[in-house]
Amino acid sequence: IQGQFMGGENVDDHKEEEDERSMAKSVHEKLLADRKTLPVYPYRESLLQAIEDHQILVIVGETGSGKTTQIPQYLHEAGYTKHGKIGCTQPRRVAAMSVAARVSQELNVKLGHEVGYSIRFEDCTSDKTVIKYMTDGMLLREFLSDPDLKSYSVVMVDEAHERTLSTDVLFGLIKDVARSRRDFKLLISSATLDAEKFSDFFDSAPIFKIPGRRFPVEINYTKAPEADYLDAAIVTALQIHVTQPPGDGDILIFLTGQEEIETAEEILKQRTRSLGCKIPELVICPIYANLPTELQGKVFDPTPDGARKVVLATNIAETSLTIDGIKYVIDPGFVKLKSYNPRTGMESLQVTPISKASANQRAGRSGRTGPGKCFRLYTAYNYYHELEDNTVPEIQRTNLANVVLSLKSLGIDDLVHFNFMDPPPSEALLKAFELLYALNAVNKFGELTKLGRKMAEFPLDPMLSKMIVASDKYKCSDEIISIASMLSIGSSVFYRPKNKQLHADNARLNFHTGNVGDHVALLRVYNSWMESNYSTQWCYENYIHVRSMKRARDIRGYFSQSAKLQKNGSYMKVKNPQTVFIHPSSGLAEVVPMWVVYHELVQTSKEYMRQVSEVKPEWLVEVAPHYYQVKDVEDLVSKKLPRGKGRASKD
Ligand code: ADP
Ligand code: MG
Repeated sequence: IQGQFMGGENVDDHKEEEDERSMAKSVHEKLLADRKTLPVYPYRESLLQAIEDHQILVIVGETGSGKTTQIPQYLHEAGYTKHGKIGCTQPRRVAAMSVAARVSQELNVKLGHEVGYSIRFEDCTSDKTVIKYMTDGMLLREFLSDPDLKSYSVVMVDEAHERTLSTDVLFGLIKDVARSRRDFKLLISSATLDAEKFSDFFDSAPIFKIPGRRFPVEINYTKAPEADYLDAAIVTALQIHVTQPPGDGDILIFLTGQEEIETAEEILKQRTRSLGCKIPELVICPIYANLPTELQGKVFDPTPDGARKVVLATNIAETSLTIDGIKYVIDPGFVKLKSYNPRTGMESLQVTPISKASANQRAGRSGRTGPGKCFRLYTAYNYYHELEDNTVPEIQRTNLANVVLSLKSLGIDDLVHFNFMDPPPSEALLKAFELLYALNAVNKFGELTKLGRKMAEFPLDPMLSKMIVASDKYKCSDEIISIASMLSIGSSVFYRPKNKQLHADNARLNFHTGNVGDHVALLRVYNSWMESNYSTQWCYENYIHVRSMKRARDIRGYFSQSAKLQKNGSYMKVKNPQTVFIHPSSGLAEVVPMWVVYHELVQTSKEYMRQVSEVKPEWLVEVAPHYYQVKDVEDLVSKKLPRGKGRASKD
């Protein structure tokens, strides 16, 4: 019996394998056929010829025409990978991952083999990799170890119109690579038509235009401004869904971030549930940067028959990702953008009106496969008279400490004359130097110190890298590394579902026993999770986001960001005095310690410090005698700390 049974299983196995193989084959054949329908395909030969003829080429083509997925493959097929890799940079990590996944399918290879991606904290490449998608920030880091980019035969700086900080810095550096390496090809690709600026910057490089296929898009405005754009967006989506036949096209809504997307998802689910079977199925697909990898693919799955898909996306769907089948775009007109005030050192993420260029890109997403409709949740007057033409490049609205440190360690001393396409404000450069000086990463002549060189090695904010380098001296590197990564994940690890807020808050308090600060609490979370053997169950029980827990490290040394309690309960920053408050989410919000250090300042209704820990003022003088003078902390320490003690210790 056993023999028969096994025999039977074997036969089944073979059949299954064969089925799988023939299915994979037909999927692959379909992908090959699809590749030939993309707008870039008819230009394959002329594009390759232009790349052959020119060292630098600016490529312009409508979103979805196949620039990102096809051009690296064409180059591979044409032999450009014989003497080096093809690198393709993306401003967003999700885009780098998802495009790499797609291209590996198209080439029928395992992701991470011939086709791979590299993003911060995750390298999915191998010795075999010849087509490498990566974030622009990762390529920037590669300059540190390989300033001539010797391992690349071609680099495509993709989504150049996004003008992220890293892309802008790359421009300046990679232009030099092209000058010194005649065998190197550089492609700058962009979705918008103002490519002249790129061409001008890159020594009048020729512009190759890929004519797009765009169907007409009907634009609708609201008659009056919307008070609640989230609600308006949801109502509009449901109206489309119930009035238009299913199967005539999917809906794409542009929202500003994860939280908003999750709220929208919840409301949409509730409302469709209450309508029950009276309406066709609505498949809700969120997509944003921190969405877990395994859920990212869902947005590309074909919409089931008789149903409609509604995609809730951040700006990522504006040009980085193309989702087929969209007919309706709902554009509330906002985006979350970083802004930076060099005077106060305050960086904040603010919901800001989009630019006209963005609005047009968004609308265009509805007209890819047929005539589309765009619903702008703002007035025509807003659009014509209030929106800026273009988004201000990130370099002009961000903290530059990281960039300055990287460029310094690349040996670029004269930052004022660095070849920036649009130079950053000199005030912001100064502020960056001030911070790096406070961290001891540069000396008073602005020269990189040994410490600064070490710090540049870490793919982290200078403050975090300083913390890690310094932890060695305090013999707490293990802990510091845990906290640093907890701080680097970009979202909170604490899960606080609406219907269980009390439970969640209690769970959180457990990590604060003894009124420890947020940093130690983060460490406790990390350590307990580690002790639970990285258990998912443990995370559920403790209201911790499992996926946020994946990366981790530790803290001490945020001495440049300290504040002292005032009589009225607010805090005064020790350097660059300014009134700030402890963020309500902090475990110390009720404790109100006298002296604190904090991880970041955020501006919402007030200017808040987030991730706060209590310190003794004398520590500040001890760790950073070049930055804090005794007089800065004196009024409180005078009795405990003999004058000049801090300055006596040299470090
Ligand atoms: P462009 O870079 O010019 O905007 P892309 O190369 O990104 O264009 O897209 C070309 C086609 O590939 C689009 O039809 C898009 O839907 C498809 N595509 C891209 N990435 C994926 C993915 N991860 N899954 C499924 N399809 C994808
Ligand atoms: Mg693209």
